[in-house]
Amino acid sequence: MDAAFAHAADFLAGLEQRPVAAVADLATLRARFSATLPTAGLAPKRVVEELVHAVDDGLHGSAGGRFFGWVIGGALPAALAVDWLTAAWDQNAALYSTAPAAAVVEEVVGRWLVDLLALPPDAGFALVTGSQMAHVTCLAAARHAVLAARGWDVEKQGLFGAPPIRLLLSGARHGSVDRAVSLLGLGRDHVVPLVWTARRGVEADDLERQLKKNAGAPTIVALQAGEINSGVYDDFATLIPLAREHGAWVHVDGAIGLWAAVSPRLRHLVKGIGKADSWVTDGHKWLNTPYDCGFAFIADAQAQRAALSHRASYLTHDSEARDQIDWNPEWSRRARGFAAWAALRQLGKQGLAELIEGCVDHTTALVVGLGALPGVEILCRPTINQGVVRFRSPVSTAGEAEHDRETDRVIAAVLETGEAFFTGTTYEGRRAMRISVSSWMTSNDDVARVLRAVARVLDQRQS
Ligand SMILES: *Cc1c(COP(=O)(O)O)cnc(C)c1O
Repeated sequence: MDAAFAHAADFLAGLEQRPVAAVADLATLRARFSATLPTAGLAPKRVVEELVHAVDDGLHGSAGGRFFGWVIGGALPAALAVDWLTAAWDQNAALYSTAPAAAVVEEVVGRWLVDLLALPPDAGFALVTGSQMAHVTCLAAARHAVLAARGWDVEKQGLFGAPPIRLLLSGARHGSVDRAVSLLGLGRDHVVPLVWTARRGVEADDLERQLKKNAGAPTIVALQAGEINSGVYDDFATLIPLAREHGAWVHVDGAIGLWAAVSPRLRHLVKGIGKADSWVTDGHKWLNTPYDCGFAFIADAQAQRAALSHRASYLTHDSEARDQIDWNPEWSRRARGFAAWAALRQLGKQGLAELIEGCVDHTTALVVGLGALPGVEILCRPTINQGVVRFRSPVSTAGEAEHDRETDRVIAAVLETGEAFFTGTTYEGRRAMRISVSSWMTSNDDVARVLRAVARVLDQRQS
């Protein structure tokens, strides 16, 4: 364990110097692990050393301040340290009886989050692996509620023969919503994508039109707080009351953007969001807990319990404490409440607001700074911590297809410098580079260093 600690400390201290993108390629990494499992074991310290040396150049610097790919958070020191302890404590956070302290700490984390995110005070919650499983948790509760309202017990009777549930989902939703739909047997054929624009999010007119068709059918509506590329929010104050008027369950994917609620400066973005029925967000993105950690919240806690709770004679259930198995899809599970508690406790309300606002400021500085470089076009100015730019070919006769190729070339060249990590996307039909800042580690110096690195890449290209 001392050896592991020393390596971890070295790794973190070396983030400033090492290339941000992993250097080793697939063939190299596989070759290092090509041996079959030997018959004889190895001393623990040698195991640690062997692995550390075999993976080192295959690790991304996503724990550092210059990693802007996908939406990847860092890990706050207190959360990381407590995550190590969580492994050492090795508690099974399935029930109060299997891990008493873990059950109570989760309870506290849930209460703190409901308050911080301005959700209904009685909302149920669950700590899961990420927003993917948070969607499954929330939509299981939704499935229960919309069918129970029509006299159908889905947990007992299943979906065969049940009234079909119609799914009115944001046209710009994250793929994890579709995966939850498939897993829960709701069927992708039942999805009606709602018209979404980068300017306004889901269009109220379209939602209303869809709700009026086949009125009275059991309905789940899914909106979004922070679209993956643009960070755009739906207009909750208009859309949620409209959907609820028609008896729909409203679910919100806030994997990235639910955290705007903690900042006085950004809070307007989530106005009206508390009137929805369920919400998800991530701990491992903007809250900066280590992987993995996501949160599900459900206004009707009884619907959540009805969809998920379980009793077995060999378990010891507690009538007063919170048994996580009654609220979560897993059975045995990591006590991820400890690291979430540590992140929140380290930051406090003010620190959390500063973390969120700091990431938004750094995203803006990066996007504006990139936009000032030759040939860089800003496609989406950040509302929160997401922005989108495009690199235009210096050739004067170049068309859109050439700008597409140029954009992918520049992204690859920036990765090659080892100075920063960005990922590409297709935004409104054109290739683009995403800028996503979700780490407490990113500093003004990091922003300046990254802008210099991109400028050099563009410079070399022109010469
Ligand atoms: C990341 C993300 C998800 C999926 O969350 P995981 O934590 O990876 O399971 C869902 N929706 C949005 C908008 C996301 O950014």
